[in-house]
Amino acid sequence: MGIQVTLLGTGSPIPNPDRAGPSSLVRAGGATLLVDCGRGVVMRLAGAGLFPVNLSAVLLTHLHSDHISDLNDVVTTHWVMTTEPVPLHVFGPPGTQQVIDGLLAMLAADQGYRLAHHEDLTYPPTVAVHEVEPGGTLDVGGARVVIGATDHRPVTPTVGYRFEHDGASAVLAGDTVPCAGLDQLAAGADIYVQTVIRADLVRNLPNRRIQDILDYHSTVEQAAQTATRAGVKKLVLTHYVPAMMPGQEDEWRALAAAHFTGEIVLGNDLMTITAP
Ligand SMILES: [Zn+2]
Ligand SMILES: [Zn+2]
Repeated sequence: MGIQVTLLGTGSPIPNPDRAGPSSLVRAGGATLLVDCGRGVVMRLAGAGLFPVNLSAVLLTHLHSDHISDLNDVVTTHWVMTTEPVPLHVFGPPGTQQVIDGLLAMLAADQGYRLAHHEDLTYPPTVAVHEVEPGGTLDVGGARVVIGATDHRPVTPTVGYRFEHDGASAVLAGDTVPCAGLDQLAAGADIYVQTVIRADLVRNLPNRRIQDILDYHSTVEQAAQTATRAGVKKLVLTHYVPAMMPGQEDEWRALAAAHFTGEIVLGNDLMTITAP
């Protein structure tokens, strides 16, 4: 088996009843890796048949709230289901340690209640933070992970992840505009997952604040152009802004197909994509 990517949440900051917040699961060899922890992540993880204790590690692409809003649920659910102090490994860009410190402070009252109540629970949640930089590589649970530079300015730093195992590769780019770092990370990948927006639809939304997202996300067309430049096999779209509604699939697909002749996958929650 090569690599399996399960989209746990294909939504965005705009609440949608059918799309959880941004989050994906990557299974490669013996590794089970959670990438980003958006709204509803633990519910979707359960939908994929897993609990946080089954994870080899959590990897964050960036610290925008929609990508980390339910990280606290991952930390607590991991903690209460362990039988000994097993650390939850969290990889992320610089600033991740500060997020974890704040998150654990937020959970201090809960930790006190549970430690006092459960006689067999004698240790607090243990989170091992590993701050990463673009250009680095990791070996997590037997899978090779390459860390690439993305461009989501003014949000910085941001990273994308490339997973390699058994000759297969999958890239989870996170939020980014097209850039050289992304092209390099995605080069020749079997699976390229990109968070996307529809600029044509966003421009028509009667909300000034949402217009600001136009300058730091890939449009569907740009994601398809990146896929072509990088020579990937499958382009997977996720994090739709606005949410892709039933009946609109052909429209979204056509925008991508005009720039990419490979396989286009319109992601939905709990969809699994495999490589090779
Ligand atoms: Zn973002
Ligand atoms: Zn986002």
